[in-house]
Amino acid sequence: MLIVKKFGGTSVADAERIRHVAGIIADDYSEGHDLVVVLSAQGDTTDDLIAKAAELNENPSRREMDVLLATGEQASVALMAMALEKLGLPVVSLSGRQAGIRTNTDYGSARIEKVDGERIRGELDRRRIVIVAGFQGINRNDDTTTLGRGGSDTTAVALAAALHADVCQFYKDVEGVYTSDPRKIPGARKLDEITYDEMMELASLGAQVLHNRSVQMAKRYGVELEVCSSFERKPGTIVKEVIDMEKTKISGVAKDTNTARIAVMGLADEPGIAFRVFRVLSNAKIVVDIILQSIGRDGTKDISFTVARSDGAAAVKVLSAQQSALGFSELDVSETVAKVSIVGAGMMSASGVATTMFEALYDAKVNINMISTSEIKISVLVNEEDADRAVSAIHRKFFED
Ligand code: ASP
Ligand code: MG
Repeated sequence: MLIVKKFGGTSVADAERIRHVAGIIADDYSEGHDLVVVLSAQGDTTDDLIAKAAELNENPSRREMDVLLATGEQASVALMAMALEKLGLPVVSLSGRQAGIRTNTDYGSARIEKVDGERIRGELDRRRIVIVAGFQGINRNDDTTTLGRGGSDTTAVALAAALHADVCQFYKDVEGVYTSDPRKIPGARKLDEITYDEMMELASLGAQVLHNRSVQMAKRYGVELEVCSSFERKPGTIVKEVIDMEKTKISGVAKDTNTARIAVMGLADEPGIAFRVFRVLSNAKIVVDIILQSIGRDGTKDISFTVARSDGAAAVKVLSAQQSALGFSELDVSETVAKVSIVGAGMMSASGVATTMFEALYDAKVNINMISTSEIKISVLVNEEDADRAVSAIHRKFFED
C-alpha cells in the first residue's frame, strides 16, 4: 500500500517523540508499504518564529514571513530523516518545493494549485521513505509560500490525492474521532467510521480533530482518511464518503460556545424586511448561522439570529447604524449562549431523532432558545451555563442508554 502519514507538532516536539514516531514509520515500512510522511514544525516552533519576527518588525512583508515560517517544518523533516537513518532505513527529507507542491502567490495563506509528484515517485521507486515538510510550497515567482495555520493537514491530503495513496493517516493524541469530547464526556466512544460531511460538521462545531480545508479536499478527491493514535497501535477512525449507517443514526454531539445571539425586535411585518436586515450583515461580511423569525403580531415581528461571538459587536454596530432605515424598535445581544448539535448522516432516513434530542433536553431541564436543522445536523441554542449538561444528557440518550 501507499500510505501518507501526517504527524503534528506535538508528535515531533523533541528527540524522544521523534524517535517514537520513527518507530511507527519503521514498523510500517518493514511491512512493505510505500511511505510518504508529512510533518509539522516541532511543538510551538511556528509561534516562536512569529514572536521572533515581531521583535524586529511589527509589520514584516508576507514573503519574508513565509521564508521564516517554512524553516520550522524543514527542521522537523531533517531531524526525522536522521532518526530513521540511525535505524538503518533508507530515507530522504524534502522541502515543499522539492516535493513539487505548487501554490498560488497568496503568501501566508497560499492555496495548492498543483502537485508535481515526479520526485516523490522516484524516491518511492527506490524504496526510500519520503519525509515531506508540511505547510509550505513554492509559487510561480519561485518563492516559498505557506498554507495558513494548521496547513500541514492540507499538504498531507494534497499529496495523498496526487499520488493516489490508499489512505492518508493523521496521528493524534487521541485514538480517533469520538462521539463527543472524551475529556468531558466519560461515556464518549471512538467511532470506527464517519463520513466527510459529518467530519466537517463536527470540526466546525469545535471538535478540532482535522483542519476543515483538508477534509473538504479529501472529499473532493476521494482520499480516504484515518485518524489514529500516535501512542497506541490500533485502528483509528476512517473518514470516507459512505459508511454503514445501519449502525448509528448519529455520530456525535458537540458544543460550540463561539456564538452570540442577536434579536432585532419590532420590525414591520412586511415583505423585504429579512432581506434588508441580512443585507446589512452580509455587506459587513458577517456570517449568520441560525435564524429564527417570530410570527407577526400587530403588524410587527422579531428576527433573531446567531453569529460568531467575535462578530457580535460588529453586528450590533452595523444594525444600530441602520435603525431608522430598518425601522426596528429594539436590539438585544446575548453572548452567554452556546450551540449544542447532533450530527449524523444516518438521521436523514430515521424518524424521531429530533424528538429524542428534545426529550433529553427536557429530562435535563434545559431550555431551548432556537432550533435549526439540516440533513445531517440538528442544532439548538441554549444558555451557555446549560451547555455541558445538555451535551451529556443528549449523549447519554443516544449512546449510553
Ligand atoms: N506549523 C504550522 C502551524 O503551526 C502548520 C501546521 O502545524 O500544520 O500552523
Ligand atoms: Mg503546528
